[in-house]
Amino acid sequence: MSAHSGESARETGDFRCSRCHQQTHVTRGDKIPKCPHCSNDEFDTRYHEPENRS
Ligand SMILES: [Zn+2]
Repeated sequence: MSAHSGESARETGDFRCSRCHQQTHVTRGDKIPKCPHCSNDEFDTRYHEPENRS
């Protein structure tokens, strides 16, 4: 699932930037910001849980 900056986050979670793969935390109902690391506006994965359980 991809998401873009400017959309409202439907759930609290961490969004992974499609370019630099850094994660950005977004709270439910907030607008998704541009990636603070590279200013990309597309996120390719959303993690629902803060822990990385890979
Ligand atoms: Zn980025």
